[in-house]
Amino acid sequence: MLTDAFGRTATDLRVSLTDRCNLRCSYCMPAEGLEWLPRPELLTDDELVRLIRLAVTRLGITEVRFTGGEPLLRRGLAGLVAQVAAMAPRPEISLTTNGIGLDRLASPLRAAGLDRINVSLDTLSPEIFVRLARRDRLGDVLAGLAAAAAAGLTPVKVNTVLMRGVNDHEAVALLRFCLEHGYQLRFIEQMPLDAQHGWRRAEMVTADEILEALNREFSLTPDDPAERGSAPAEAFLVDGGPARVGIIGSVTRPFCGSCDRVRLTADGQLRNCLFARTESDLRTLLRAGASDDDLVQRWIDCIQAKLPGHGINDPGFLQPSRPMSAIGG
Ligand code: SAM
Repeated sequence: MLTDAFGRTATDLRVSLTDRCNLRCSYCMPAEGLEWLPRPELLTDDELVRLIRLAVTRLGITEVRFTGGEPLLRRGLAGLVAQVAAMAPRPEISLTTNGIGLDRLASPLRAAGLDRINVSLDTLSPEIFVRLARRDRLGDVLAGLAAAAAAGLTPVKVNTVLMRGVNDHEAVALLRFCLEHGYQLRFIEQMPLDAQHGWRRAEMVTADEILEALNREFSLTPDDPAERGSAPAEAFLVDGGPARVGIIGSVTRPFCGSCDRVRLTADGQLRNCLFARTESDLRTLLRAGASDDDLVQRWIDCIQAKLPGHGINDPGFLQPSRPMSAIGG
């Protein structure tokens, strides 16, 4: 079990499959992109499968989420999903994606064993999409969402980051769109994880502001908190339910006390927190011929060092040197 010094147990493994992305969302990456990780530094499929197998069979991981960068850019993704789906005990397998290419990939991924999907969608306006993501791809994202639902990757969850003066007037329209299509919408507060270090607390659209905007059009009532468990989203019933909307207030309503996550970067570094300032190098150990026991021990040591909170609200907070796209969101 991956239990830390504060009694939290990590059961949810986030695996970044690549640091590359085909969008350039302003809250994540600069317009010109980033210097991508050199290919030899990326874990191969075999290396990934070995580490995930250890996590599932020896360390109590019950959920594996593939992310990035953009995970759909990873060649052979369906094969990877199939290998994880064949593990015993079988973990739940989910994917966080921007949805581009999902119109083609949703069915094969479902057939390979993918259980659930989260698609990022920040706007319904093609013009605002271009401004925010710096690519003209809204149509592809919407097609991807529809394909995910048609393939049975339900409930399809939608992740939205609101940016002041850009798309913060769209909270209600996005919720209406998701209600109409049967997607579960979750708003995520913008976090200090962009490569440009441009995050400003005063500019961030807060959970309170989002709730206020939604409450003007809908009647929101808090869902049973017992239902939340370690989920990051606070759920609200919309107009009495059963439809729900989630708010992930990572900055103003941190949920570190119930965090059950651990992250593996595409280059084989283990992180015990999105905001960790240190990483545990599994790749070097693995490539030096380490035994399973050695790898398991490194994993346990990494979790033991997990801090009680992410520290965003502490006076001396320092943003991690790696951006969200390289850590895996
Ligand atoms: N490319 C995939 C996608 O778009 O979903 C997976 C990786 S992306 C880093 C995962 C999630 O992180 C997306 O929903 C994205 O909106 C969110 N994200 C990226 N940067 C963020 C930030 N600075 N604050 C909050 N959420 C962020």
